[in-house]
Amino acid sequence: MSLDDVKGQKHAARFFRRAIANGKLAHAYIFAGPIGVGKAFFARELAKLLLCTQGKDDNCGECPTCLQVDANSHPDVNWINSPASERELKKKHVVEMRRMVGLKALTGEHKVFIIDDAEKLNEESANLLLLTLEEPPTGSLFLLLTGQPERMLSTIRSRCQVIKFRPLSRDLLEPLLDRLKVPAPEAKLLAQACGGSPGMALRWWQQGILPFRAELLARLTQIRATEVFSLATKIESHARQAADNRQAARWTVLDILQHPLLFYRRLWRMKVGAEAKDEVLDREWIEKLEPRLSPEEAREILEEVMLARGRIRANANITLALAELFSRVSQLQGLG
Ligand SMILES: [Zn+2]
Repeated sequence: MSLDDVKGQKHAARFFRRAIANGKLAHAYIFAGPIGVGKAFFARELAKLLLCTQGKDDNCGECPTCLQVDANSHPDVNWINSPASERELKKKHVVEMRRMVGLKALTGEHKVFIIDDAEKLNEESANLLLLTLEEPPTGSLFLLLTGQPERMLSTIRSRCQVIKFRPLSRDLLEPLLDRLKVPAPEAKLLAQACGGSPGMALRWWQQGILPFRAELLARLTQIRATEVFSLATKIESHARQAADNRQAARWTVLDILQHPLLFYRRLWRMKVGAEAKDEVLDREWIEKLEPRLSPEEAREILEEVMLARGRIRANANITLALAELFSRVSQLQGLG
């Protein structure tokens, strides 16, 4: 494995190879791109490339260093993340990181700090991180991974170079899912549904989400005003069953809303001619809805889904936020 094996992100591999060859590696980068397109995978490969003692132009993938990085147990590669159920990356995580930054590298010239979901840094942790980014010790490399760079403090963004990670095309996704042992018919559907994110496609496959997704979209695309509360309650109880605490249930609802988000984005892109209509996935609902919606209405539904996700993320009452969203969808689809 190497940087070049991260599918769809060859531009990032070229960029870092050149920076390393020219001795121009900066201290801090933001990896910005959707969930599941390979940001963490790439960060790990980059750490191996910097630390491997055996390989010449690439990491060898076999030495104790490479194996330790792969196992997340190398002392000079530090992953900083908060539990998935927590909304914020708290100060204590950055305090601990700063303690590690202060220590000498144990094995070589580089120490790598990878902050996952960096948009979760709260103001206090972000300001503390800023102190480190302003005076980075020699040999330290900070990689801030995020799906929402716009939510990060501008003072942090201005100290980092932004590397964009792109959604993958279906031509890349289907063979990739095939290699990950996803059967062909499902791989085809998932590749269409996942918005270019192999990580998301794989997670959906492991969760067996396709039947639930189909039911959700079937109900949502023909929802009437009288049905908004029953669908909202159904989603909330599904999330509560799938998660082990209230906060995790909230994140599960955000996850579930990815399905309508990506569905209406595809529909809108079809309306404006940016995506082909010869779809296998969701054809029945697309055929029903497509003639009924103007491009503006499709776009408006998409925005409503994003707004609802924002409200739920900010701790709004889940059932009410969903019911409000579905009621808008119902009006815009002309069935309200
Ligand atoms: Zn190696």
